[in-house]
Amino acid sequence: MNIHEYQAKAVLRAFGVPIAAGFPAFTAEEAVEGARKLGGPLWVVKSQIHAGGRGKGRFKEATAGDKGGVRLAKSVDEVNTFAGQMLGATLVTVQTGPHGKQVNRLYIEDGATIDKELYLSALVDRQKSRVAFVLSTEGGVNIEEVAHHTPEKIHSFAVDPATGIMPHHGRAAARALALTGDLAKQTESLIAKLYAAFLAKDMSMLEINPLIVMSNGQLRVLDAKVSFDDNALYRHPDIAALRDESEEDAKEIEASKHDLNYVALEGSIGCMVNGAGLAMATMDIIKLYGESPANFLDVGGGASKDKVTAAFKIITADPNVKGILVNIFGGIMRCDIIAEGVIAAVKEVGLKVPLVVRLEGTNVDLGKKIIRESGLNVIPADDLDDAAQKIVNAVKKGQTV
Ligand code: GDP
Ligand code: MG
Repeated sequence: MNIHEYQAKAVLRAFGVPIAAGFPAFTAEEAVEGARKLGGPLWVVKSQIHAGGRGKGRFKEATAGDKGGVRLAKSVDEVNTFAGQMLGATLVTVQTGPHGKQVNRLYIEDGATIDKELYLSALVDRQKSRVAFVLSTEGGVNIEEVAHHTPEKIHSFAVDPATGIMPHHGRAAARALALTGDLAKQTESLIAKLYAAFLAKDMSMLEINPLIVMSNGQLRVLDAKVSFDDNALYRHPDIAALRDESEEDAKEIEASKHDLNYVALEGSIGCMVNGAGLAMATMDIIKLYGESPANFLDVGGGASKDKVTAAFKIITADPNVKGILVNIFGGIMRCDIIAEGVIAAVKEVGLKVPLVVRLEGTNVDLGKKIIRESGLNVIPADDLDDAAQKIVNAVKKGQTV
């Protein structure tokens, strides 16, 4: 699960991490109120969306100005103007994709005078089974580019969970950031606090870009992006409460309510498959024949008729879906249950696009019979290859039912 920058900063602040004062705002009035409390003379008005690259991003609306999603304001009036321009507007960054994301929340922060912008992140290194830190003196810019063009500027070390953070980790971090003296001491203390926060809150990723050295010689976390391990959320109700569903795909939220493994994609063919491996193979073969899947969906082993119906509804609700491929290899999952679920869903929501059904395995004859006798316009298929070609051809012809 991802959270907003201002929420991540509140979590980290509780662990003693140095962070500027700031207030979230849902309206321009709240932004002004926050700015007054901060006092100035410099404020930062920051768009809160679950994507990075906001500073260099641009709004779709001409009325939103052309200055990006992170702006420095020199007066409360300017905070008011920027807030009015950003709220409700759609911000496009390298991470949002061309559709962009609507800005519904802002963060008004006390502005800093920056001497240096550094990079620091922590993540779970699965190969080493440890939390690893990644550091670079080249913060603030696109870190992927730094890693690509000048990999020697990226430093990394992992922490042994048996010892936890040791003084040598702090020294290694300071060296990687080329910090000495008091700033090196601050780095050692920062690393220990970040590690404590990472473990205590079951984070899966913590990225600070940039970590800054201010003109007064203090370190400050200027931007923070945090992801949490979904499997551990049950023991962090405070973190779970930070979820912002408006940042997530509505179809994925609906699917998670039905315990379906669903991932929304950009293509035109909706897929309903059992088993993650078969679902991947189905997506591959759709690609092979020249179309793209609209989703990944594994209905699981023991899906009920209701679950299949819910899955079918989620697929048909996607306006990009121009055809549906049901591909079931019935093992634990029975073909007749799938057939009944599909029929029930079609009767409820109607069918406006071609539907190819390939059934194999347990109760396959009964499943095929149910579909045959339903009177619905279903294209039957015998194997995966046949099914993929049939749905791709139907979609290419722009067939409607
Ligand atoms: P991102 O573009 O989504 O990564 O948003 P950031 O929070 O990293 O902000 C982008 C850039 O805005 C930073 O790299 C800084 O250069 C600048 N910025 C953000 N906050 C401040 C601030 O308090 N003072 C100054 N001078 N610049 C800031
Ligand atoms: Mg940033």
